[in-house]
Amino acid sequence: MSSVHESFDADVAVVGGGPAGLVCAIALKTGGVDTLLVAPTPEDDHRTTALLAGSVTALETLGVWCACLPHAAPLRTIRIVDDTRRLIRAPEVTFAAAEIGLEAFGHNIENRHLIAALYARATELKLPRIAAAAAAVASDESGATISLPDRDVRVRLAVGADGQRSLCRAAARIGTRRRTYPQEALTLNLGLGRPHMDTSTEFHTESGPFTLVPLPDQRASLVCVLDPANAAELAAMSDAELSVEIERRAHSLFGKVTAEPGRGLFPLAVQTADRFARGRIALVGEAAHVVPPIGAQGLNLGLRDAATLAELVADAHRQKLDVGSPRLLARYDAQRRADVASRRIAVDLLNRSLLADFIPAQGVRGLSLYLVGRIGPLRRALMREGVTPAASQPRLMRGEMV
Ligand SMILES: Cc1cc2nc3c(=O)[nH]c(=O)nc-3n(C[C@H](O)[C@H](O)[C@H](O)COP(=O)(O)OP(=O)(O)OC[C@H]3O[C@@H](n4cnc5c(N)ncnc54)[C@H](O)[C@@H]3O)c2cc1C
Repeated sequence: MSSVHESFDADVAVVGGGPAGLVCAIALKTGGVDTLLVAPTPEDDHRTTALLAGSVTALETLGVWCACLPHAAPLRTIRIVDDTRRLIRAPEVTFAAAEIGLEAFGHNIENRHLIAALYARATELKLPRIAAAAAAVASDESGATISLPDRDVRVRLAVGADGQRSLCRAAARIGTRRRTYPQEALTLNLGLGRPHMDTSTEFHTESGPFTLVPLPDQRASLVCVLDPANAAELAAMSDAELSVEIERRAHSLFGKVTAEPGRGLFPLAVQTADRFARGRIALVGEAAHVVPPIGAQGLNLGLRDAATLAELVADAHRQKLDVGSPRLLARYDAQRRADVASRRIAVDLLNRSLLADFIPAQGVRGLSLYLVGRIGPLRRALMREGVTPAASQPRLMRGEMV
């Protein structure tokens, strides 16, 4: 039973200190909401993230981007090359940010630099943090209780930013739909023999995309989607062998490449929570949805979750309303559905069209890319939708505080 006299340790606790949780906690704090971060020390992450223009604007607005900029490379051009050996091959297509009046589609940054910049900003803002993992989460009508190794914390709203295997999601009794693909993504960073010219180059192969995304100092990050046997074979190679193999797959476009230490292997899956909030628990980032690493959508979606939730909560706080009410959580769920579903479908279609041995599917993909390459307005509309989706632009993504 709810009690108006009940005391809370904070209004909101964000559980999970990955990029989505940190952005949500910082946004809430800047919006004047009494916020607590529950986050163990992050593990090493050698991945990179291509942050699209809206995400960069949000980080600028939160005072985080200045610390990211020296480590980020602009993505001014995207080049798609059909590297399949199939009967029907698509023509090469190039997208330039300048065509839609942008300097860059976004920026690519190593996750370790992004997370360090977010933690530095959280410290600057004196965001209270408990550096431990939540052991259990429970919610009732008036609030949520987070059990930590040495105490319990009581809040009006718990934000589950605790990744794919979210404890918060399980506590809210929210199920997921999950499908796996017969593919794995091998990730690593590379030194290049020739400049990338701020161009992200995507080779579409029969096993999935092989994408080189610019990093500063004539480096690039590689996401190479392969069938599991092939992925294991490449992952077992020495740095020197792998460098030669990558150069071969990139058709020596970047000269001699040098594989850097720190490889990752990620099985490809799509997973969506049945709903994004229930019973004083709201989900953001991969706790809510996982999409394959194709087309740089995952964290960009996660940051839009974080910004949308922070905006709704800060508005309720300003109006002295309950920040974890069922009405607020229902609005959050409704506002995020279309954006998440449309990105999931687009990434899934693109990936399946590459895997399909079915000639008509190859024909449709080839024709679509041909039309996109030839028809300027269609290409520009696609680019705009990819970078700044018409449907869901929370205030932070437009450069306004929450
Ligand atoms: C190969 C690859 C490339 C990608 N490239 C891109 C890209 O270019 N652009 C893009 O937008 N996205 C990309 N993504 C997706 C992106 O990496 C993810 O969307 C993002 O990392 C998810 O962030 P998150 O904060 O939701 O989750 P996570 O980064 O998984 O963070 C979850 C955090 O929760 C913590 N946690 C877990 N359990 C608990 C607990 N009980 N208590 C407290 N804390 C807990 C964990 O320690 C962790 O720090 C890529 C993904 C992959 C696999």
